[in-house]
Amino acid sequence: MNKPYMGKILMVDLSNRTMTEEEIPDRVYEQYLSGMGLGAYILYNRMPAGADPLGPDNILGFCSGFLTGTGSLFSGRWTLVGKSPLTGCWGDANCGGTFSPAIKHCGYDAIFFKGISSGPVYLYVKNGKASLKDAADLWGRDAVETEEALKKQYGPKAAVAVIGPAGEKVSLISGVCSDKGRIAARSGLGAVMGVKKLKAVVLDGVQRIGAHDPAEMKRLSRHCLKWVNFPLPLPGWMLGFVGAFLRVTPIVFPQDGILYTSILRKWGTGGMNQTSIEMGDSPLKNWDGSNRDFPMSRSRTINPDIVRRMEIVKYHCYSCPVGCGGICAAKGKYPHTHKPEYESVLALGGLCMNEDLDSIFYLNELLNRAGMDTISAGATAAFAVECYEKGILTKEDTGGLELKWGNTEAMVALIRKMVDREGIGDLLADGTKIAAQKIGKGSEAFTVHAGGQEPAMHDGRCDPGFNVHYSLEPTPGRHTLGAHLYYEMFQLWKLVKGIPKPAPLFTKNSKFRIDGEKAQMAAVCSKFMSLANGAGMCMFGLFIGAKRVPTFGWLNAATGWRLTPEDYMTVGERIQTLKQAFNVKHGIEPRNNFISGRALGHPPQKRGANQGRSVDIEKLAPGYWEQFGWDTATGKPKEETLRKLGIQ
Ligand code: SF4
Repeated sequence: MNKPYMGKILMVDLSNRTMTEEEIPDRVYEQYLSGMGLGAYILYNRMPAGADPLGPDNILGFCSGFLTGTGSLFSGRWTLVGKSPLTGCWGDANCGGTFSPAIKHCGYDAIFFKGISSGPVYLYVKNGKASLKDAADLWGRDAVETEEALKKQYGPKAAVAVIGPAGEKVSLISGVCSDKGRIAARSGLGAVMGVKKLKAVVLDGVQRIGAHDPAEMKRLSRHCLKWVNFPLPLPGWMLGFVGAFLRVTPIVFPQDGILYTSILRKWGTGGMNQTSIEMGDSPLKNWDGSNRDFPMSRSRTINPDIVRRMEIVKYHCYSCPVGCGGICAAKGKYPHTHKPEYESVLALGGLCMNEDLDSIFYLNELLNRAGMDTISAGATAAFAVECYEKGILTKEDTGGLELKWGNTEAMVALIRKMVDREGIGDLLADGTKIAAQKIGKGSEAFTVHAGGQEPAMHDGRCDPGFNVHYSLEPTPGRHTLGAHLYYEMFQLWKLVKGIPKPAPLFTKNSKFRIDGEKAQMAAVCSKFMSLANGAGMCMFGLFIGAKRVPTFGWLNAATGWRLTPEDYMTVGERIQTLKQAFNVKHGIEPRNNFISGRALGHPPQKRGANQGRSVDIEKLAPGYWEQFGWDTATGKPKEETLRKLGIQ
């Protein structure tokens, strides 16, 4: 039978430079798929309890998606896994591009690294033969330069994942880059690669990826394609007004993700720049401001049409029919840059009260090349500006920078210092929580983080589901696992029995009600996204709806299994529970990961889109944990739950 997985992993021990190929039993794929699921299985079973995230026992994994290369669409994401040095918890980050199929083409579902090398190295795998090579001459180069040098040596078809200077300098907000500056940014796993002295992974293979029923895979993909090309009749200038309407209307209807896909195709994620600000989804001024502080007269500089005018070419991830990425022509040091994502524009823009688009393009490229997370970098800069405003940081501390809101020049200089770990930048290069611990003087009050990780640019006072997932996921601070809006767009109730269908019209305030239905919706999102991250699916594709993007159908056609949607949701539940069990094994108290009070609306804002709103995470947590069979007081998986899911 043609299987969609390769059935093997490569384990590299950097301390003694050994490489071991291991066969993985079929039952592991049946229980966890590959991607994040296989990563969780390996890390949970093999990493000793209490392992130092920056020590030799941490295991860093590069995992391909279970559906990658099988003929399914939206299935080209690879997942980086490890114990996060930023949060001490389960850590993962994922990225599109072309690296996921490259792992499989080399004959593996995942490549794991343990130990610490005595000097800089990179891994090169060619046609199933792996070797460690000296990387001394690559150390210090940025992510794009390094990738170009390696492709010059090994040819343009080689796929490369690499750290930039931020990872080398063990910044706890650094990530791992591929495809010339795209980045698996979250969880600080670039620092793990840096401390292991692993500069890059270079893959060049030609192994075939199978599927049980290729004709059915094709039929399902053709069905899916019909839903991708829905035209959006809206011009860019109207998007801010759409956001303003969503702010004032008390009654809304469940969102259909097909509209969001149209925005993605036309503008990329930046299509939401102004809409999100106006409706209250974007945090502003270090989470203390509102749309009133950053009105349309300021945000028009980041209108999606203006960004789009700079785009010279669009790009797609592997197997994606949407293509939300783009390369832009920009002013200054980097004439060609990646089109900044919504998250980057808002973290480096509205969160810092900066409307200068040229600086956002420059910082986005600088951070991508350095391999530093734009969300955490922008959030830490905003925190520093507020500390300066409150007199906690002085001009002497900042090395002469006047860190005032909207002082673009000072902000650019500050982030450069963070990348270089120079002066105040050294103090800020590990994110807000650690910076506040070092600064003291009450600065913790101005941090916004969950378990140490800065949340993304989606305000849980607008959609309380974000606060649930920021606070309660095994990977705290992540926005890619669930929200009320995501539940609406996934439309899983059309396929999965026994889960709630949203009413055709509902009040915005009803989203804040604490009840069993909301808890179930949040848990369904977590389970589905855990499954999707095992399959290597892009969340944006999944927003089109579960019937239109047939993840369950592709999984059955790729494997020959005959599982129901409910069976697959149990796979997601198992992956999610294993990640939580990983945290418990490593001494994490889930309650300590609740997001900072400011993001929860404690105290509520006095003006703007989210005026008067707050989220009671203490009351929400037990309901969410109960959905998984985790202890409702502590969030720890119960023995009987582990047994039921077959987790030992
Ligand atoms: S929608 Fe965008 S991020 Fe997702 S797979 Fe397609 S190009 Fe990549």
